[in-house]
Amino acid sequence: MDDIFEGSFTEPEPLPEAAREAAMAVLGRGRLHRYTTVQGERAETVLLEEDFAARVGARYCLAVASGGYAIGAALRACGVGPGERVLTNAFTLAPVPGAIAALGAVPVYVGVTRDLVIDLDDLEAKLDRASVLLLSHMRGHICDMTRLMALCDAAGVRVIEDCAHTMGADWDGVPTGRWGAAGCFSTQTYKHVNSGEGGLLITDDADLAARAILLSGSYMLYDRHTAAPPAEAFADLRFEVPNVSGRMDNLRAAILRPQLADLDVAARRWNALHDAVAAGLAEVPGLYLPRRPAREGYVASSIQFLLPDHGPARIADVVARCAARGVALKWFGGDPAGYTARYDHWRYARAEPMPATDATLACLLDMRLPLRFDTDDCATIARIIRQEAAR
Ligand SMILES: *Cc1c(COP(=O)(O)O)cnc(C)c1O
Repeated sequence: MDDIFEGSFTEPEPLPEAAREAAMAVLGRGRLHRYTTVQGERAETVLLEEDFAARVGARYCLAVASGGYAIGAALRACGVGPGERVLTNAFTLAPVPGAIAALGAVPVYVGVTRDLVIDLDDLEAKLDRASVLLLSHMRGHICDMTRLMALCDAAGVRVIEDCAHTMGADWDGVPTGRWGAAGCFSTQTYKHVNSGEGGLLITDDADLAARAILLSGSYMLYDRHTAAPPAEAFADLRFEVPNVSGRMDNLRAAILRPQLADLDVAARRWNALHDAVAAGLAEVPGLYLPRRPAREGYVASSIQFLLPDHGPARIADVVARCAARGVALKWFGGDPAGYTARYDHWRYARAEPMPATDATLACLLDMRLPLRFDTDDCATIARIIRQEAAR
């Protein structure tokens, strides 16, 4: 008899007790807007920015309405405007090219390797086409950041990191988001901390931080921010930078702070699940697990693998048979389902064909690893995938 897995791949964990208590306290006060404070009170949003800046060692942090908003604000604060070209990953989530398109700017796509990181040779060849790279650490895979920064620095290309899948992760001990000019994080339900919607922007650049704070809708109240540059940084900007409202509120900040405090524990739990599935899928003939270099400090809330020799019909079968046994795989080579993640699905930005990237995405499968699972669940899941991939 074939076993069937009963767990849900979409169900998040309940929020910790401390987050629920913090939420009730904010609700009891009623002061949900970040600039509505009484004498001596420090808003939860301000405290969250301090917490996160301290955690990653950044000078400045801004909490905003979504990860996509953080990316848009970082790009705009970096001077990206209409018509300008921005390098970005051919394999990422739709809000990444969407943030570029929202500014009237134009994505220039860079390919993905079989290990699911940006193709640094392709990047090198395209560096003269733009002055900004929006780098997405898609599905939590981190490229050789030392080489990437050396290439970009030499070419005068500024780097904005999309860290939606790498909160808590690092390359060579330096957190993602700390390599480029700015790092952007999401606190949406399926990322590493959960406030439904939300985003965080970090930077050490005072001008970039001041612009982002003004863009987010700080009115003339920017001096209420503490993880922020001094007033001088705003002096010339405050009448120049438009208010593009996208603030975070105190309720979301309040439920995020206890989750951030527990992030390292969650990261270890995710990695235990990831490593259990990876162990179960190692040595499966015809199945390629992307390599995870020793310098990559990953937080794997999902796992990916390739079936390079199966061909589309057999992969579709594997997906269908796994689904019938309760294992939800996302196939990037199929018709877009749920969301889009490939450059050729974003028709607002024309792209030249990228055959190597196409070949990788055509055989790429992806699976979420919700924290409700345990390592026994992961062994079952890996066994099911192993059996179905071999049929
Ligand atoms: C979720 C996500 C974003 C954007 O985050 P939102 O908070 O949903 O706007 C950006 N990049 C990637 C890779 C994501 O998965």
